[in-house]
Order: sequence, then C-alpha cells, then structure tokens
Amino acid sequence: MPREREASAVGTERSELRADCGNCFALCCVALPFSASADFAVDKDAGRPCANLREDFRCGIHARLRREGFSGCTVFDCFGAGQKVSRVTFGGRDWRRDPRTARRMFAAFPVMRQLHELMWYLADALGRPRTRPLHRDLRRALDDVERLSLGSAEELVALDVAEVRRGVDELLSRAGELVRAAVPGPGRNHRRADLVGARLRGADLRGANLRGACLIAADLRGADLRNADLIGADFRDTDLRGADLTGSLFLTQAQLNAARGDEATRLSAGFTRPAHWRSAARGRG
Ligand code: SF4
Repeated sequence: MPREREASAVGTERSELRADCGNCFALCCVALPFSASADFAVDKDAGRPCANLREDFRCGIHARLRREGFSGCTVFDCFGAGQKVSRVTFGGRDWRRDPRTARRMFAAFPVMRQLHELMWYLADALGRPRTRPLHRDLRRALDDVERLSLGSAEELVALDVAEVRRGVDELLSRAGELVRAAVPGPGRNHRRADLVGARLRGADLRGANLRGACLIAADLRGADLRNADLIGADFRDTDLRGADLTGSLFLTQAQLNAARGDEATRLSAGFTRPAHWRSAARGRG
C-alpha cells in the first residue's frame, strides 16, 4: 500500500515539472545544439532554429520524428523549463516577435532545465513517507531551488548550477538510502556500474542502488525495479518490457523515452508510456 500512496503524492507535487509544449516557444528546438548522429539527422548550432520548426512553434515532422532520424527529439524532456522561461521569465514575449530577447532566452533555458530537474528529484523524495526525517530539509531545498528558478534571465545565466546541484545531491542520496533501506530484497549496489548489455532479465532489483549506472541496451525484461534508485542511470535502448518500475526513485520521463518497453511495463502514475513503445509492439506483432 505505501507504494500507491507515494506514487500519487509524487504526481501531485510534480505536475508543473512536465513539458507543456503548447505554452513554450519551442526553446529546445532552437536554444540547444545537436550533432548529426543516430539521434539527429543533421547538425544544428545552439540558437539556430531547427529547419523542421514551423512558424507556429510546432514541429513539422512530429508524427514521424523517429522515421526521419530525429529520435533524440522524442527522448528529450525539459521538466517544464520551456514553458517557465517562455511564460514566466520572459512573460510571454517570444523570440520571433522580439528578437532582442532571443539570446538571453536561449541562455536561460539550459539553466532552467537543470533547476527543474533538481526540483523533480526533490519533489519525488518529498512525496515519500519513508523520507519523513528529511522532509524539512527537502522542503527547504525545493523552495530554495524554486526561488532561484524565478530569477531574471540575467540571474539565471549567472547562477553556479553545479554548486546548487552539489548541495541537493547529498540530500537526495540520503533520501534514497532511507527509501531503499525499507525495501525487502537483496538491495544490490550497482552505483555507477558498467552494465552495458547486461543480462538482467527477471532480476530482483527492488531497492537496488543504480545511481549513475550505465544500462545501455541491458536486458531488464520482467525485472523488478520497485523503489530502486535510478538517478542518472543511462537507459538508452534498455529493454524494460514487462519490468516493474512502480515507485522507482528519481525516475524521469526522459529515461523512459530512451528505453524500450511495452504495455506490460509497470509505471507509477504521472508517467507517460512513450508512443514508440506502442509502435514497437505493433511491429513485433
Ligand atoms: S525535428 Fe522537430 S522536435 Fe526536433 S528539434 Fe526540429 S522542430 Fe524540434
């Protein structure tokens, strides 16, 4: 039962930390650079609009991003930083109609994304009954980071985000220990482990420490990842079909987007099953 309570609390706390593309001036499609690779079909410099971006800030190839070689766009998640910069920091002034704001806006966006990512993790930790001994510290840290996110564009750009992250990381690590300590099971330590291509089908990873683990193309089909600490774990092409990720700690939508999964993959409330999971299942059928 605690699992369900935790999941719903997290969903409420983190509702503002999800991308709302309809309220954003497509900042990820302009501000960020990308290099031609398996994830992007072309090179693009930071600050230059992607050639596929329409005048109305929508993607001209949205329905066929993966087919056209832009799978990286389907993985990226801004944690709600795009709409915050567009609507709050710049009060709804868009970079097309007011080009003078463009450079400042594009510089503020990556900073805001990092702050919102930290807020996502802090809200997750705060939503768990097991972390009650840390709730005051977590609440204060979340308020502090949120206050920073409400600064001006100049204040955001001048921020030492690495310093902010260092303070928060230690708190998140302690929160993770509290949650994992209460979980039955082996609770393995795979912190920063190289698990590329690892065969972990059906593994009992309840309460495991997978912080920063490299799980690229690992086989986690049917694995039990409930309450495992997944902060920073690399899930690119990881096979999560049938895996149970309910209550996984510090899981992000971007991690799910990068992985493979199916209808049998179990997720906490508030996460979206990526569209490519469904199309992959249809392809197999
Ligand atoms: S391909 Fe579409 S989603 Fe990707 S950067 Fe370009 S406009 Fe944005």
